[in-house]
Amino acid sequence: MNALTWLEPLRSSVAELDPADWAALEHFDHDLQVLCPAAPQANDAGWSRWLLELRRELAARGHRAPPGPAGPVWQTLAQFLAGTRDLDLRDCTGLGHGAMVLTHATAGTARAWTRRLHAGDLVGIAASERRGGSRIREITTQARLGRGGHWRLTGEKCWVSRLTEAAAFVVFVRDPDGRISAVLVDAEHAGVEREVIEPFGLGGWGWGVLRLHDVPIDPATALLGNPGSGLEIFHEHFAGFRPLVTATALGTAAGVHGLVADELAARRDVGILPRIRDNALITLGRAHAAITANLLAALTASRLAAAGHPDAGLLARLGKAAGIDTAVQAVADLAPLIGASGFKRSHPAAKARADLTGLLYADGIHDSLYRSGGVTLLASASAGAPTQTPALAAAT
Ligand SMILES: Cc1cc2nc3c(=O)[nH]c(=O)nc-3n(C[C@H](O)[C@H](O)[C@H](O)COP(=O)(O)OP(=O)(O)OC[C@H]3O[C@@H](n4cnc5c(N)ncnc54)[C@H](O)[C@@H]3O)c2cc1C
Repeated sequence: MNALTWLEPLRSSVAELDPADWAALEHFDHDLQVLCPAAPQANDAGWSRWLLELRRELAARGHRAPPGPAGPVWQTLAQFLAGTRDLDLRDCTGLGHGAMVLTHATAGTARAWTRRLHAGDLVGIAASERRGGSRIREITTQARLGRGGHWRLTGEKCWVSRLTEAAAFVVFVRDPDGRISAVLVDAEHAGVEREVIEPFGLGGWGWGVLRLHDVPIDPATALLGNPGSGLEIFHEHFAGFRPLVTATALGTAAGVHGLVADELAARRDVGILPRIRDNALITLGRAHAAITANLLAALTASRLAAAGHPDAGLLARLGKAAGIDTAVQAVADLAPLIGASGFKRSHPAAKARADLTGLLYADGIHDSLYRSGGVTLLASASAGAPTQTPALAAAT
């Protein structure tokens, strides 16, 4: 089953996409088909470099979301298509965390970064600290007032992804007035130290600790939004970002689904299997239904985020947790149907299992996301009114 086959039945559910947008998605899928066979073995030396080159090449070929309401829907489906190849392709198109810069930076900074992101540069996010990534309100990374109105940043962020590939990071700090602000920090500044840690999965991008040693920034160009608007920026960004992550993970589960279906059909066709047993058929059917349902939910969450709907954050948090849980479960159920060969480290099903594990933490650890959703739902139930803004900080 090819990746686009999953999307074809959903056409009527995404009225925002006109025939040209669909053609662009097909073209994107075709280019992935052409470019991916040249990839080095996943996780080998050169894997991360190739992923960055792929991002630049796809950018050069003009693969980006169309303007207007079709944009977030197109990007969600593009993430799904990329995910079917490998979860490490999660940044092969799109603005990613750079969206915060384009939305909240000054006009000059946003203009410069529009060019850089369209050329394939990558922006990382540095929010988590040792006290716990799910407690962003308690961050201690400090911006002190320096000479000439500059801020000097000192602190340590941990578990940061895109650590060695990002050209810049959106860093969440305590500003000189003690409020949480978001600032853009150049990755190459001498005071920025990066310590790589080997992850269990999602090895495509460098991951680890980002230390800031008295790094000067000019708030006139590097501050995103107003001083003190860090939490607002964080929550608004993740309302749009989480559905994209979810769609990518669901794509990865769909990719494993395709491998399993092809393997079973091939074994049946050559007579190794006289017939396909019911447990395999049921697993294929159940996984397909769950992946499709969660992808539709991710599309809805993307739409709501783009429209600034008051429930966008809630749907993104719950949809991320439920969608990743679905992808993890689908792959856990499907992989044994391949047999022991699917347990080889080099097998895509084995890689998918390890990679998806990372998304149980990244972009929001699930118990915190479900709990935060519960708080919001309870607040709206007691108020008898539409959903309230969550009191609880949802994690990166
Ligand atoms: C692959 C990967 C990529 C990542 N990328 C990034 C990135 O690019 N940038 C970034 O900033 N971060 C990143 N992270 C960090 C991620 O956002 C955090 O792991 C996540 O927010 C959870 O934070 P934590 O791991 O510090 O766990 P904690 O916040 O310490 O939580 C650990 C557990 O304790 C629970 N807990 C919290 N409070 C309580 C309590 N009062 N009582 C009992 N239990 C409690 C939590 O719910 C959770 O189950 C990444 C993580 C991974 C694994």
